[in-house]
Amino acid sequence: MKLRCPICGKTYDEPVQRCECGEPVEFELFEGEPYIGKSVWERFWDFWPVEPALEFSLGEGDTPLVKSRLGDGFGVKLYLKNETVNPTWSFKDRGTFLAMSYALKAGYKAVGTVSTGNMAASVSAYASRFGLKAKILVSESASDEKLKAVSVYGGEVIRVFGDYGRLYFESLKLGEKLGVYFINSDNPFRIEGYKGIAFEIAEELTPDYILIPTSSGGLFRGVAKGFIELYENGLIDSIPKLIAVQAKGCSPICKAFLEGKEKVERFENPETIAKAIANPYPPSGNAVLRLLREFGWGCVSVSDDEIRKAQTELATEGLFVQPASATGVAALKKLNLPEGAKVVSILTGSGLRALKDAPAGKITECPLEGLKNCLR
Ligand SMILES: *Cc1c(COP(=O)(O)O)cnc(C)c1O
Ligand SMILES: [Zn+2]
Repeated sequence: MKLRCPICGKTYDEPVQRCECGEPVEFELFEGEPYIGKSVWERFWDFWPVEPALEFSLGEGDTPLVKSRLGDGFGVKLYLKNETVNPTWSFKDRGTFLAMSYALKAGYKAVGTVSTGNMAASVSAYASRFGLKAKILVSESASDEKLKAVSVYGGEVIRVFGDYGRLYFESLKLGEKLGVYFINSDNPFRIEGYKGIAFEIAEELTPDYILIPTSSGGLFRGVAKGFIELYENGLIDSIPKLIAVQAKGCSPICKAFLEGKEKVERFENPETIAKAIANPYPPSGNAVLRLLREFGWGCVSVSDDEIRKAQTELATEGLFVQPASATGVAALKKLNLPEGAKVVSILTGSGLRALKDAPAGKITECPLEGLKNCLR
């Protein structure tokens, strides 16, 4: 199994996590055909870099694609890929499951990640499920409340004091020495797991556009590789246009893209309600930038107000997502897509993960004696 650096082209036969040049590596394209099967893992069996450990699956993937009214006002056919129904409420579970299948097979006794939100919960949950120890490195500012949803699964939560950005690289280095397999945001197996989103969409629809909330760039790269593999294997006739969506208050990839920069630079003073996509120095930023340019794709950023509005609109469809996950729908207003275009927005994670900042609906107070009036 060969890994290749998408930036400098160097190849590796052993499963390294990053290239010597500092960029992320990725598996070469897979060849194969789809089968009939219950799970996305079985149907696309040829396309994974390691055998999925199905006995430890929690049912990640195979999420609903919901036709939404919210596209009507823009003259497009909008579909929502509802990743909030994954076992720990976000798409991260797809990548976590596949990467942990590898860690188990490779004989690791412990896994880790650097995250305070969805990925932390996902790795903590799956580590327990797989019978592995978990070392979850969180930032000093992470609230106790948020960490409950991580520590409840039994993984060891370690609050690290110091530069959180450096932690990503330190964890990979030390993890390798100490036998802890770190499954960070753009781990090569994690990215392969995200391909399932593209596979499932293609099973149901021939989309024209995919809107992808983007932080580290792992999700974007995974969905892109999924569609590219389908195309290269002759399973779809064209690759949809992928749009990376970022929060205005932290949009390093869009900034580099629009300014024609060759590399993504650290975004100074990031500030947004979309905490799940607020990585100021995305480890896969340059790889995403390259994809955007190579395929003529796009990058759009949306303000916190626009995100909040989209979050409320999605709730009118019965879907409660976290701010990061509403960015795709928020972007719809800025994109001016062609009439009748088929658009998929990926709802990456649940609103329950960010209850504190969620928009509130109406609550009516009612004395029992006056209930009749309240029900009118
Ligand atoms: C992780 C995450 C993203 C962004 O994924 P990256 O791979 O970091 O680009 C978007 N939305 C939610 C809810 C997430 O948890
Ligand atoms: Zn390289």
